[in-house]
Amino acid sequence: MAGQYILAFDQGTTSSRSILFNHAGDIVATAQQEFEQIFPQPGWVEHNAEEIWTSQRATAKAVLEKANATHADVAAIGITNQRETAVVWNRTTGKPIHNAIVWQCRRTTEICEALTAAGHSDTIRQKTGLVVDAYFTGTKIQWILDTVPGAREAAEKGDLCYGTIDAWLLYNLTGRHATDYSNASRTMLFNIHDLDWDEELLTLLKVPRAGLPEACPSSHTFGSTTVLGGEIPVASLIGDQQGALFGQAAFNPGESKNTYGTGCFLLSNTGTTAVTSENGLLTTIAWGVNDTVVYALEGSIFVGGAVIQWLRDALELIQSANETEALATAVEDNGGVYLVPAFTGLGAPWWDMRARGVITGLTRGASKAHIIRAALESIAYQSCDVLHTMEKDTGKAISRLKVDGGACANNFLMQFQADILDVPVERGQVLETTALGAAFLAGLAVGFWRDTSELEGIWQLDRAFVPNMSQDKRNQLLTEWNRAVNKAKSD
Ligand code: ADP
Repeated sequence: MAGQYILAFDQGTTSSRSILFNHAGDIVATAQQEFEQIFPQPGWVEHNAEEIWTSQRATAKAVLEKANATHADVAAIGITNQRETAVVWNRTTGKPIHNAIVWQCRRTTEICEALTAAGHSDTIRQKTGLVVDAYFTGTKIQWILDTVPGAREAAEKGDLCYGTIDAWLLYNLTGRHATDYSNASRTMLFNIHDLDWDEELLTLLKVPRAGLPEACPSSHTFGSTTVLGGEIPVASLIGDQQGALFGQAAFNPGESKNTYGTGCFLLSNTGTTAVTSENGLLTTIAWGVNDTVVYALEGSIFVGGAVIQWLRDALELIQSANETEALATAVEDNGGVYLVPAFTGLGAPWWDMRARGVITGLTRGASKAHIIRAALESIAYQSCDVLHTMEKDTGKAISRLKVDGGACANNFLMQFQADILDVPVERGQVLETTALGAAFLAGLAVGFWRDTSELEGIWQLDRAFVPNMSQDKRNQLLTEWNRAVNKAKSD
């Protein structure tokens, strides 16, 4: 077979990256380029879509150079991307008609409030698995069509294309206007049960169907590109969090992953069933592979590793996040100290946006190490609350937790996570799981890898953290944590 590598594009919120993987799933080379964050008003976030494309293309060229490779060494390209960000462009010229509106952007909050006030939340939730929120793509497209002069008429005539970043990159690479189910499921326009754009939602959000991409399975040959000097198939599109779940080889129902970054992102595979959460979690499409669509429950934690940044930057208790592991293990336990980092409210399962952070249980004996330990533990408790909510929603126990993201380097945190959850926590050798997921999906599509059981063999364990805490102790800690959470709540 032609090509000994898979080239993954990881188009993130602050940088574009290209990573070359070999057949063993090892990273051969990486290249990265940051791009501009545009803040036109408080709460608004944009990217220059052209710059997203040119930075992505530049890193692709750079990574081949670094590996001393050419297009002929690449069996396929897989794309994973920042989710929900909206791009609208002219079908003929290929030029964006407005900056991309980034997932973080709050400008469509009022549109969302109006949808909720008009009683559409249940319909939207039932069809899309999402809560009505400005995060998602649909209202961002609506805003561009309503704001750019002539855009709505052009959209109705079919002269515009719109979609998420995967669709924008694919269009630039191949000329085809398509997306995958995982990205489509974040738009608030896509019916995750019928696997099609939903007429009722398109009418509600005033988004003409003519400009939407064709929704396809995630692992699939979308087309081919010559931008790297010769033909290469583009064989996967996948949203970043779903990409990480696939890259963690979490192929079976109950398998879950947690990404410990600034915030935490938890996804749990629910198989071919789209489970509706009773507790405000999102239902999302994980991927479509081989005519099968797999769903996931998704929960996020607003303040994860960010609590460590706060210790460093606001309290100046530490100089670097790396110090926290030694400090936390220097004390026997948390000394009764609990820190609830509800800086911006509490998410699942509490949903109290007016909650604020607290530190409880302070005594004269409480030291810096106790507070640092409490901060690390708070990341694990919050993750535990979300995973328990997922278990409640699915009625099934989570079997093990795969982990990635910057803070998963902290061994204390990982062991405490295993202890408090009472499930093994597994850290893989490749921490670039998002890109690996895109590579796996592309490799499957072109026969570079045979099937998911081969991929399970490629996923290599770095370290497993096995639960080592009595049930009594666990219950006691969780009770104390819950008491602290109650103090953080607004009422
Ligand atoms: P993001 O992709 O959200 O920017 P990363 O995956 O790069 O985040 O992870 C960075 C986050 O992880 C930061 O919030 C940082 O405070 C935290 N972090 C990094 N290393 C450690 C560590 N050893 N212990 C605890 N937290 C850490």
